[in-house]
Amino acid sequence: MYRIGIDVGGTNIAAGVVNERYNIIKKKSIKTAENSSPEAMIKAIAELVKELAIGLDDEIESVGVGVPGTAELDTGKILYANNLGFEDVPFLPELEKALGKDLSGKVFFENDANAAAIGEYITGGYNEPVFVMVTLGTGIGGGIIINGKLLRGCNYAAAEFGHMSINIDGCDCNCGRKGCFEDYASASALVLQARAAMENDKPKQSMLWERVETPDQLDGELFFEAVRKGDKTAKEVMNTFSEYLAEGLTNLVNILQPNVIVLSGGITRAADLYLDKVKEKVARDVYSRSSRINTRIELSKGVSDSGDVGIIGAAIIGDF
Ligand SMILES: [Zn+2]
Repeated sequence: MYRIGIDVGGTNIAAGVVNERYNIIKKKSIKTAENSSPEAMIKAIAELVKELAIGLDDEIESVGVGVPGTAELDTGKILYANNLGFEDVPFLPELEKALGKDLSGKVFFENDANAAAIGEYITGGYNEPVFVMVTLGTGIGGGIIINGKLLRGCNYAAAEFGHMSINIDGCDCNCGRKGCFEDYASASALVLQARAAMENDKPKQSMLWERVETPDQLDGELFFEAVRKGDKTAKEVMNTFSEYLAEGLTNLVNILQPNVIVLSGGITRAADLYLDKVKEKVARDVYSRSSRINTRIELSKGVSDSGDVGIIGAAIIGDF
């Protein structure tokens, strides 16, 4: 038997056929922008599923989709998806209709960060009571799995770690609060912090200026390169960032006492530049610092890339 998983991202809609050993045996992706209205997206996903199912017709056990935003499981609606501009979209019933009666009752959906957490939990072989994944990207998302079950919360919007404030006098967040974790410790926040440091670097002595003319041309790669070369300004930004990240993770440890927190997202490829500092600060600050067991902070094992984890997680959400 096979299951089909679909990960709806900001850039691509990635789909794959997943076998019983959680391997992706077939994959295809299309551009999100070309299928951005709810109707077009549902139609495109149905076509992807049909294409991937060719030759496996009777063996598709289920179809699962990870969507950005709040997936209201009891109504099948996407309540709000900021990045897609969706509000109150009857996603699941419409997708079921588009897929036809063979798959009726076998179609599932879930928030994409939750789906990725499930993918990581299963493929990474974590068999522990409290598992938390924190994804550092444009924002900060994640998932909480307790005793093998996803914690969804009463409105299916649990684990919005990014909107936990770490500073009530902090910067304005798009959610309406101030000082949200993701405005300090996401990948995007890091780049903004580095650009702000460039603005303050007068005369332009930092290596951050070496290959760009204006701060907005600086990206994560160039920033990490400057940290590696020992640039003082870049290292200061990196240090402050690790403190912000540690602050939010400490809150999560204090509330949930996870066995493990897994960090994922593109910037974890440069984690050698900040992870030790983060771990040290968390260990120093957590309430349970003198306890026998301490939360491990690890990097995503990520299969081959984070997209795969999203596809695999989406494929098996029906079990969670
Ligand atoms: Zn916020």
